Amino acid sequence: MPSLPKPVRRPWQPTPQKREYQQHAARSPEYGTARWQKARVAQLARQPCCAACTAVGRTTPATVADHIQPVRLGGDFWDPANHQSLCRPCHQRKSASERAQ
Ligand SMILES: [Zn+2]
Repeated sequence: MPSLPKPVRRPWQPTPQKREYQQHAARSPEYGTARWQKARVAQLARQPCCAACTAVGRTTPATVADHIQPVRLGGDFWDPANHQSLCRPCHQRKSASERAQ
């Protein structure tokens, strides 16, 4: 059976995760703060499973603290009521659909 080509590592380029984070950080400098690190950890502790997966009956551990209403569209950055936990694929899907708006 043929094997898939190995992903090419280019250490001089940021990983996709890093690039995603940098795009967020470029829009909102708050992402780089200790306060956000704390808010993110608190959100993931409060809601350890992905909210979007839970809504369709799946149980997936969340790794991303997301703003329900995007900050760019007027959502409150610091309001815990505007935070939800998502897994990476769900977060990417949500971000992509927001970009398409
Ligand atoms: Zn998910």
